[in-house]
Parts: sequence; structure tokens; C-alpha cells
Amino acid sequence: MLQRTDHLTKRYGIPDGFTLTRYLADGGYVQARRALSMTREELVNECKAANLRGRGGAGFPMGVKWSFMAPTVAPGRPHYLVINADEGEPGTFKDRSMMEGDPHATVEGCIIGCRAIGAHVAYIYVRDELHLAKDRLWAAIREAKAKGFLGAKPFGVDYAVEVYVHSGAGAYICGEETSLLNSLEGRRGEPRLKPPFPAQAGAFGMPTTVNNLESIATVPALMRLGGDNFSKISSLHPKEGGSRLYGVSGHVNTPGIFECAVGLTLRELIYDLGGGVKGGELLAVIPGGSSTPILRADELVEAPNESHPLHAWHGMSVLDVPMGVETFRGLGTMLGTCCATVLSDKACPVLAMHNLMRFYRHESCGQCTPCREGSGWLERLLDTIVAGNGTMDDLNRLHEVANSIMGNTICAFGEGTAMPALGFLKKFRREFEEYIRTGGRSSTNRLALAQPAAE
Ligand code: SF4
Repeated sequence: MLQRTDHLTKRYGIPDGFTLTRYLADGGYVQARRALSMTREELVNECKAANLRGRGGAGFPMGVKWSFMAPTVAPGRPHYLVINADEGEPGTFKDRSMMEGDPHATVEGCIIGCRAIGAHVAYIYVRDELHLAKDRLWAAIREAKAKGFLGAKPFGVDYAVEVYVHSGAGAYICGEETSLLNSLEGRRGEPRLKPPFPAQAGAFGMPTTVNNLESIATVPALMRLGGDNFSKISSLHPKEGGSRLYGVSGHVNTPGIFECAVGLTLRELIYDLGGGVKGGELLAVIPGGSSTPILRADELVEAPNESHPLHAWHGMSVLDVPMGVETFRGLGTMLGTCCATVLSDKACPVLAMHNLMRFYRHESCGQCTPCREGSGWLERLLDTIVAGNGTMDDLNRLHEVANSIMGNTICAFGEGTAMPALGFLKKFRREFEEYIRTGGRSSTNRLALAQPAAE
């Protein structure tokens, strides 16, 4: 059942919702003050009890991530908290709404997060194009500092905390945590080999936790409610807890960001919140940012059978399976950023894949050959097909190239390119073949409608 919540979005859309005055009137900074009197272990346990899965895409449990940091801070080895607000994933715009709508929740979350991992400095890495988001965050930091909530003795407690905003130059790969750390240090935004993981050697070679912006902005709410109560909001409790931001865009009537209890279904997201498919019938959904494998409409209305990993939902349409990290893995896709992109049957999957592959080729950092060359090869093959000169062999080659990227790269960007490519090829094989047979010009082919007229 659709369960809207407002633990994170209460101040969205209120004229002064982003100001300290309004935040304090709603009980703001009470949890940061309380956190500074708690031990690191107590804070980590609270977060673990909340079952908060990271909201950036990987869905890793946030309390467990905090617990990876060394329990004591070694001399000359300061800990850092880094917030990933690069948000370059196509179709994803939730962190931006949080920074613009309620920046003080992020600043308060940073104070609590610093305390939980033994850090005194937090960097919020925001892509440069998000001018309003950066301005609001900086203004919030200035307000909090002027009030004595940040600095050498926040709330009079002898535990210094400083928060800074760092502008990224707008490279998709800087959303990958080690690439982000390189960029933060003033180096090229290229992913690092892991290990070492950031908890051992992150920003400036020091122990670092990288948290997604929505994740850290959720921390004051989970502290206010208590970890256990927060977790129980979710219909997937105890595997995944709380409420979160869901996004929907593409061919829907009311695209946007909506806060709901974890466990919303795609049907509720697309038809209740998104207002239904715009200009046609449902063709497919990319569930959580462009790198997550696409789901076709016919798969979505099927019910998982008893041998399916999601047999617990046997008898229900896949559209009614709660959206969760593990449930979506069971569907052969990923929850990702929880921001779905809807394609109507007026869209052309060949052109959609072409568009995506152009993006990935452009954004590859170029460090490893399979990704650098493979993404370019995928784009060129699709250029040929889209121009009406493709052959069935090109389809096989697309498969081969995508498969040769998988598992052979330094970072997950390689898979992030190959998985959607393989997803489109598998799910829309018939459409690709039809496009190649007709050169994309068949009058009976809806794909032709999306093609520009021949010169
Ligand atoms: Fe760079 Fe691509 Fe290799 Fe990642 S997989 S390091 S983005 S070349």
C-alpha cells in the first residue's frame, strides 16, 4: 500500500524551508547536539538498527560502512567524512532536491556522521552545475557556524567539526567514490584500484568514509525516531529500513521526487505518483539510473513463479513487488538510485540505447582499454545501425564487445556500460532486428517514427 512520508521532505517547497530559522523551529540540530554526547559505537549501532541501505546506488548498509573505520584515530592519521553529491546518473535528481530543499539536514547529518566515524572534517562533493544546491549548502554552513553548531566547539562540546562544499567539474566518473577522492585532492578524476578501500586509505591517504548525500541527510531523521522505529517504517523491515526518496521521469505525466516508506512498488511509482504513462502504453522501465538493466513491460506484468528467486511474491505481478535492493536483484536488475525512467511504446529502444552509449563513451575516463575502446566501439556500431547501414553481424558484435568489457575493468563503470547494453540487446532483440532489416524506415515500424527524415 502506498505510504507517503515526510521525514526528509517536510520542508520542501516551503518559502523559507532551507533557512536555519525554519529548521530550528522543526527541532533541527537537536540530534547533532545529542550525537556529540554519544559514543561512536552507540551512533553506529543506531544506524545499524535503522537498516539504512546506502542511497547512492550500491545499497550497502550504512551502519556497517561506518563500522569499517578504525575505532581509534591514530596520530597523524585523521579521519574524513566525504559526501558524494555528484549525482551524474542520468534520470537521477533526488540529492539535488535535498540540497536545495533542506540543506540543514545535510549539515546536521555531517556533524553526526563525523562523530560516528571519528572525523572532524566533512567535504560535500557537489557537481559544479548545481549552483543553487551549492549556494544553499554554503549558506546553511555559514548559518550553522554563526550559531556555534560548527567550528572548534560545536554546541560548546570539545569536538571540532568543519564542513566544506567542494565543486566537481561535472564528470560522471567522479560519482565513483575513489575517482571522487582523486578529484577532491585536485588530481584527475580517475578511479583507483581497490584495495586499499577508502576506510583504510581514502582522502589524502587517510581513513575515509564516503556516504551518499541522501544517506547522510537521512541520519537526523533516523536519530529523531530511533533506529528501530525508523527501520519499521519500511515494508521490507528488517532487511531494509526507513523511508527514502523515489524519483520517476521520462514518459510519465507527473515526473518528480516523492518520499515514501521503503517498499514502494513500481506500479505505485509509475501510476499513482507519476500519473501514468504519457502518450502511449508502457514499453519498459529503467529502474534506478541508466546503468541499471532495463525491464520490459511484459516482464513487469508477469508473476514470479515458484522457482523464481522472488517466489515469496508468487501470484503477484512484478509491478507489485516492493522496490528493494535485494528484491530487484532477484528480478535480474538493480534498484540503483531508486529513480526510475519510464519509456512509452512510442520510444525507440535502438535510439534509446544509442543515446546511452554515446553518453558512456563520452564519460569513460580512459584508464582501461576494455572500457575506453569498448565504449567507443559500441557507439560506432550503433551509429552504423541508426544510420540504417547495420547488419545482423553488428548485433552479434555489440554482444561480443559488451561481454568483453564485463569484469575486465578497474571500476564498475565498465559494467555500468555493458549491462544496459546487454539488457537492451536481450530484451529488444526483435526490435533491433526489425530496425536493421528496414533500415529504421519501415512504415509499419514504430521505430521509424522516431527517426529523422532522410536527407
Ligand atoms: Fe575509467 Fe572505464 Fe576503467 Fe572505470 S572502467 S577506470 S571509467 S576506463
